[in-house]
Amino acid sequence: MRVCVVGAGVAGALLAWRLVVEHGARVTLLAGAARPDATAASGGLVRAFERDPEVARLAALSLAELRTSRTLREWSGYRSGTSLYVLAPPDGYAGCAGPDGRVAPPDALPPSAERCDARRLADEFGVRGLPEGAVGVLEPHAGHISPDGLRRAVIADLVARGADLPSGRLRAVSCDEQGGGVRYRTGAGHGTADVLVAATGAWTPRLLRSLGVTAADEAVRTKVIQCAVYRAGGLLPPAFVDETSGLYGRPAGPGRMLLGLPTERWGAEPGAARFLDHEERAVRRAAGRRLPGLSLGGLTRPVAAVDAYGPAGRLALTPVPGTSGRLFTFTGGSGGSAKLALAASREAASGLPARLPPHTSRPGHVPITTTRRETS
Ligand SMILES: Cc1cc2nc3c(=O)[nH]c(=O)nc-3n(C[C@H](O)[C@H](O)[C@H](O)COP(=O)(O)OP(=O)(O)OC[C@H]3O[C@@H](n4cnc5c(N)ncnc54)[C@H](O)[C@@H]3O)c2cc1C
Repeated sequence: MRVCVVGAGVAGALLAWRLVVEHGARVTLLAGAARPDATAASGGLVRAFERDPEVARLAALSLAELRTSRTLREWSGYRSGTSLYVLAPPDGYAGCAGPDGRVAPPDALPPSAERCDARRLADEFGVRGLPEGAVGVLEPHAGHISPDGLRRAVIADLVARGADLPSGRLRAVSCDEQGGGVRYRTGAGHGTADVLVAATGAWTPRLLRSLGVTAADEAVRTKVIQCAVYRAGGLLPPAFVDETSGLYGRPAGPGRMLLGLPTERWGAEPGAARFLDHEERAVRRAAGRRLPGLSLGGLTRPVAAVDAYGPAGRLALTPVPGTSGRLFTFTGGSGGSAKLALAASREAASGLPARLPPHTSRPGHVPITTTRRETS
């Protein structure tokens, strides 16, 4: 199987790596030039607990593989630590329901996790002012990684294995209905493959539009994620997500905390985004309310970048409609792909052959889909 993977964020790099190492596929990874993508900006929080059962399954599998693999721990700069997830009371988290509208039962916890009540959240972690009915899920063995470090190490390993990483971005792609393959073009040349997977993150809607996919913007949306690293003193919490305020964060080295709040900047252009002061002030206010024992000093690192949000709310392999089953996207992590990428890439790589059309190589070339514009 010849696979062209487009995009070398953490999703594309790991998918290419799985295909080469675990399936012996012939992979071309089109990494393009380095750009400020979501992987470079990522806070890298990893944990097993999630509201959505499928997201939770992938998160738990990823964390388990990370913790048992010395190579992956080293490549990703894994830092083990406690994770605290504060659940809003049932009527306070409508926005956290899964795509089917269902919400994970509150007792669907990973084996190593435990529930903790508001009193313990306050006494041990300094979390205050929670609404009635909020509870915590405490995971002792979670932590954070460097998705950028992981992607770089994976690419270095692919290079060492002799994988094909030509320079240049994907510029155009066409499917051969009869030839049973995909042709693609970069700035530096062109190639063919049995299947092309666009792991192009926030650049995906643009790519889909260029392929003439109607409703491309509904298939994958983009949104800015803004956070920052602060000088911090007082009572520093562990890595946490607080559904009741939206605030999330993690320790970021001695006397440093990374903190952020979700933004509503939908439809943003991919890449780096503007860091907005009023959003940053909202983070300080939320931290002041929820973590009054934490004292925040100046910013040491503002971060704002755009990520891809898919309908499933998780990193997923999805066929591009109208392309003979030869084009897929592998994106849509909705601000959370880093914690899912290990398991999602493993499952996408092992599931890909079964999703290909039966005939992969027949003579004749009839382009059925051709990009008219640059894809990125
Ligand atoms: C600020 C921030 C904080 C985050 N924190 C967390 C967190 O704590 N935990 C967590 O789990 N997740 C977190 N995330 C989410 C997670 O980091 C992202 O979901 C993940 O990195 C997305 O990876 P990706 O490979 O899908 O996309 P990207 O990293 O965006 O990579 C896509 C790549 O495709 C390339 N590309 C696009 N078009 C082309 C083309 N035509 N040809 C070749 N290449 C192309 C781009 O250059 C880019 O390198 C965070 C994200 C952000 C932005």
